[in-house]
Amino acid sequence: MFEKIVIANRGEIALRIQRACRELGIKTVAVHSDADKNLKHVLLADESVCIGPAPSIDSYLNVPALISAAEVTDSQAIHPGYGFLSENADFAERVEESGFVFIGPSPESIRTMGDKVQAIKAMVKAGVPTVPGSDGALGNDPDKNMRIGQRISYPVIIKASGGGGGRGMRVVRSEASLLNAISVTKTEAGATFDNDEVYMEKFLETPRHIEIQVIADEHGNAVHLGERDCSMQRRHQKVVEEAPAPGISEETRNKIGERCAEACRQIGYRGAGTFEFLYENGEFYFIEMNTRIQVEHPVTEFITGIDLVREQLRVASGLPLSFSQNDIKIKGHAIECRINAEDSKTFLPSPGRIETYHAPGGPGVRVDSHIYSGYSVPPYYDSMIGKLITYGNTRDIAIARMNTALSEMVVQGINTNIALQQDIISDSSFKAGGTNIHYLEKKLGL
Ligand code: ADP
Repeated sequence: MFEKIVIANRGEIALRIQRACRELGIKTVAVHSDADKNLKHVLLADESVCIGPAPSIDSYLNVPALISAAEVTDSQAIHPGYGFLSENADFAERVEESGFVFIGPSPESIRTMGDKVQAIKAMVKAGVPTVPGSDGALGNDPDKNMRIGQRISYPVIIKASGGGGGRGMRVVRSEASLLNAISVTKTEAGATFDNDEVYMEKFLETPRHIEIQVIADEHGNAVHLGERDCSMQRRHQKVVEEAPAPGISEETRNKIGERCAEACRQIGYRGAGTFEFLYENGEFYFIEMNTRIQVEHPVTEFITGIDLVREQLRVASGLPLSFSQNDIKIKGHAIECRINAEDSKTFLPSPGRIETYHAPGGPGVRVDSHIYSGYSVPPYYDSMIGKLITYGNTRDIAIARMNTALSEMVVQGINTNIALQQDIISDSSFKAGGTNIHYLEKKLGL
């Protein structure tokens, strides 16, 4: 196991990674921007290194500064967390070339999954169900593209192979607008992602977002840890996540989960990862793989009893997974609410000083947050200031605990979305379970 690692991230996930390290006796180096010297994990770290000014481009995305932080502190590995450089294959490569371990998959795996056309090809090969589509990138032959559109049938969606963050997509509702949509998306993709490859998929009207958590070691073992439902979204951003997904049977879970584990074995995947699917009329359709730990990993930790970050550290150091598929038993239900520093109604970010903070508690309540009374939320980064996760033997108990926990949580001095979360958790359709990805925006009148 490593003796010391660099945590190349900030906020709640940096603290989460640090907690796993401390349990394993690994020393931590916190790297931070000028704006972040008072982050909780920086104050708790064995060592800390300032890596640059506040803007991410000069600090958390500053590759030479991160590598030199690992060098000067004599660290052995770098954990990228999520966001920032976590899915950047060039960064993973630089880390390895500099003699450190990248706590994540190989640069090749990141590169393959970062290219959606290649990722879909790998999925088809492993028997993972994909969205009916163009079987690869679209060429320049208009007649051929029209025929593909007819075969898939409208509406379709044109997507950039290098796209991400909900950008580089265009829905086409009728044949008349197909060719123009392809050419516009291609031009945009070339300018934005430096890759003008686009492909076509059936556009699903009312899907749910269901994803499968996997973890694999470098000894050929790959295990799935069940699914999460992350359909409660606004602008493609997840707001509430839960596990297991309402209405998914054990048989269905095992079938789709095993296909994902098999895909990991086929591509020689190492580390934690998530296969994202749209789910409609009882069918799963792969859309993309995330090659990192995800924000919503705690709901899976609650229902499986597995510490995913601990396991990431273990497999990155070369150890085999500490469990096999048969050891995984899904028990109970967990829900996560993302707590953001933003107005509950206008969604405007609300940075500033937190005057008072009271964390909720009680049975089945987990708070992953770096905030404290007197902490100032900087304006430069993502507005998420923490995650509230509750667990119960049943979904109803998890919901009741979330209601209580939200009402106990006090954050004064800035605006938060706690009121919105209370509204969602007491919504009758949410309570029934199985709402689709458009539900929240419709509810909000957007
Ligand atoms: P990104 O990498 O930009 O997040 P994704 O492929 O994950 O792109 O798609 C982002 C979102 O776009 C999905 O969560 C879904 O809401 C919508 N989307 C993508 N593909 C389709 C599709 N074939 N049908 C309907 N919606 C889609």
